[in-house]
Amino acid sequence: MKARTSSFRDLVHGTISAPESRYSVTGHTTPQDGPDSASNEKRNKLLSSLMSQYLARDVPAIQRQIVNHVEYTLARTRYNFDNFGAYQATALSVRDRLIESWNDTQQYFTERDVKRVYYLSLEFLMGRYLTNALMNIGIHNQFTDALTGIGFKMEDIATEERDPGLGNGGLGRLAACFMDSLATLNYPAWGYGIRYKYGMFEQRIHNGHQIEIPDYWLTYGNPWEIERLDVTYPVRFYGHVESTGHGFKLTGGEIVRAVAYDSPIPGYDTYNTLNLRLWSAQPAKEFDLTSFSRGDYYGAVSAKEASEKISSVLYPNDSTDAGKELRLKQQFFFVSATLQDVLRRFKKVSRPLTELHTKVAIQLNDTHPTIGVVELMRLLMDVEGMGWTASWETVKKVFSYTNHTVLPEALEKWSVSLMVKLLPRHMQIIFEINRRHLEETARKYPNDGHKLQRMSIIEDGHPKMVRMAQLAVVGSHTVNGVAAIHSGLVSTRLFPDFAKDGYRILNMTNGVTPRRWVQQANPSLSAIISRWIETDEWVVNFDLAKGLEQYVNNADLQREFAESKLENKKRLAATIKKVSGVEVNCNALFDIQIKRIHEYKRQLLNIIGVIVRYNKIKKMSPEERKGVVPKVVVIGGKAAASYVQAKHFIRLINGVSDVVNNDSEIGDLLKVFFLPNYNVTLAETIIPANDVSQHISTAGMEASGTSNMKFVMNGGLIVGTMDGANIEIREEVGEENMFVFGLHTPEIDHARNQLKYGEYKVRDDRLSEAMNQIQSNMYCGSDSSGPIMNSLQPYNDYYLVTRDFSSYMDAMDRIDEAFKDKTAWIKKTIVSVARMGKFSSDRTIREYAEQIWDIEATPFIPGSISYKS
Ligand SMILES: *Cc1c(COP(=O)(O)O)cnc(C)c1O
Repeated sequence: MKARTSSFRDLVHGTISAPESRYSVTGHTTPQDGPDSASNEKRNKLLSSLMSQYLARDVPAIQRQIVNHVEYTLARTRYNFDNFGAYQATALSVRDRLIESWNDTQQYFTERDVKRVYYLSLEFLMGRYLTNALMNIGIHNQFTDALTGIGFKMEDIATEERDPGLGNGGLGRLAACFMDSLATLNYPAWGYGIRYKYGMFEQRIHNGHQIEIPDYWLTYGNPWEIERLDVTYPVRFYGHVESTGHGFKLTGGEIVRAVAYDSPIPGYDTYNTLNLRLWSAQPAKEFDLTSFSRGDYYGAVSAKEASEKISSVLYPNDSTDAGKELRLKQQFFFVSATLQDVLRRFKKVSRPLTELHTKVAIQLNDTHPTIGVVELMRLLMDVEGMGWTASWETVKKVFSYTNHTVLPEALEKWSVSLMVKLLPRHMQIIFEINRRHLEETARKYPNDGHKLQRMSIIEDGHPKMVRMAQLAVVGSHTVNGVAAIHSGLVSTRLFPDFAKDGYRILNMTNGVTPRRWVQQANPSLSAIISRWIETDEWVVNFDLAKGLEQYVNNADLQREFAESKLENKKRLAATIKKVSGVEVNCNALFDIQIKRIHEYKRQLLNIIGVIVRYNKIKKMSPEERKGVVPKVVVIGGKAAASYVQAKHFIRLINGVSDVVNNDSEIGDLLKVFFLPNYNVTLAETIIPANDVSQHISTAGMEASGTSNMKFVMNGGLIVGTMDGANIEIREEVGEENMFVFGLHTPEIDHARNQLKYGEYKVRDDRLSEAMNQIQSNMYCGSDSSGPIMNSLQPYNDYYLVTRDFSSYMDAMDRIDEAFKDKTAWIKKTIVSVARMGKFSSDRTIREYAEQIWDIEATPFIPGSISYKS
């Protein structure tokens, strides 16, 4: 087998000296942000000789480093530390290495004066760092050996890490996959977001109900981040606008300090290391003297304390936003700090701000950071003194916007009155942006008041609202959707007026990183791919997996695929055993649906299908039961704390699980599990074990989905609707390798109306029986079964669960038939894995870089930096 070779691996991790030029400088700059300091040759010579060597990668050196961290950083004794101590010391040892390449990378970008992309996202769902970092920089084996030598197991150490759950679901995970691809492809990029103290809540199940436990993930510290007490910016809320004679100025109000926390993002097999900068809110230094003069010392302190709330908690919403003032504060807080940071970096080299777009591209991950369009206008005009026209032209060249949903209820809006109170200057600027925008539109389309209303940033009504999506479109040079069908709907349904008016709306089909989702999550499959295609280059070029297809009829490959699958199913079975105490049959078909619980994702359709399967088996004779394909159904996902209906779904699923799993007549033929607390780490265990996964949203409602990609890459087949990226996955793997069912998007509105007005009646005895059982509270109490039954009435069945039911059951039958032929099934999975190249986030990121950001891959060249600038 041809192994990847890389000069960087040897440079970075060998015992080779650092490039001499690294510290042969006449002015050492803290690579991130420190002030330029006057220098003296002698001092730098000394520093250079002190640090002439990168950290060594040999096992004894790694062991020394780990033990040193135990003693000098953790202040524990080297003779007595537990798994968690070993994890911390290991993480710090890895971080030390990342800091070398990270500093050099940032300095290199600065000296090359490259254009950077800034990815602004309210969520980054990163998952654990340790294994990812070690595998990306190619020293996993050395660290494993080093730990073994001092009496620890890498598997135990890695599981000590808390999952930083700084995201809800797909949107946050997309940001994380993108960071991995940006680093791996050597693009100059930064991620910016919020360092929430409380991430996504921990989900527990109590009597079948979801319980939310606050996730204070920082309890035991976060060894991957670096607090930058020197990188802080003031962010002003409330206050009032003053005229300065030649412009406007915002004064008064409340100032909060944003403090930077940086985490290095290593790419795979490259020296380049990117930065994820998350902001934390702290009280500002400025004191309000009046409260002190009144003697209200404690009151003044507690008022200051309140400002920390801004970065306290991630809003656990998915697709619906509650319109909370604190949420808008979070958005403005992180965007304002980010833009100040970006402008400061740009201004290190003196050049006109009208050239900002030649060095800066800013991607808005959904509308959440859209207030940045307005904040940049304010900074350019009020602080930098630029005129309106020049500022607006600059802003439009810098921003681009990714839309993540066309569901009307999920489009962000803020009331004008809230904006006026919280961000008075910004509201003024929005009114002016809108005035000019509508004036121009009216010139082009005179006498079309409806069009103006639709395109307006301000929605008329009581109360008046600011539509963040319209603002994002108007303030960006490019808008993109996240899968072909979704981008089409963005053009035809969400923003048809803008599309006709020539606004640039592109499609960037999502992807996932094959590093985390195949190489790290599925070691046995990874080894098979590398062995058969005779290279591990697929890790950075997933198109190469195509090479598997020529061996699809080879019995050895088929056997290896089957063995790998069995091994992964055993791993999941162990998790199921731990959670439920139930031992499952690993030869059963593993049928999995894990994703946020949402009506449009239709976990209800899945669980009704399970009930029907249960009823069918119950009615069978012992002889007939011999023909049943045994099945293990796994469902997981969190419901937003305020999403009552989604919580009823969880209750029903757990109720069905209780009935079915405790029915001795059923035995191994059917088992159902709700696995609590779905997160990235759990996904890494569950996904490789799938035979089938369910992506069964009502057509037109799932923008893309990304777990569908992860599942197929891991050797499973999809049962799904023609929605989101399912459509493109089907194009790639072939319709014979996917179980497709259900109405298509153009049919949905009509079908809904037919149901509603009784023009179409669903008749299916299996469905009626299942509904009767739910109605009779066989699985859960009426507090849950009532609302669920209500949602299934024809006039209420907005998501068309009953309408798609028969078609769905047909697909489930086709799965059973296909699964009985083991060889044919394995061949389908081999072909599917081989054809998933398109869904690597590397492809997605290249498209963004070339078509939206206009940035260049900039791999670090050893010995090329001077630290002079
Ligand atoms: C990939 C992923 C998602 C997105 O799943 P969909 O099924 O595409 O909605 C959500 N949560 C986690 C933890 C993920 O890894």
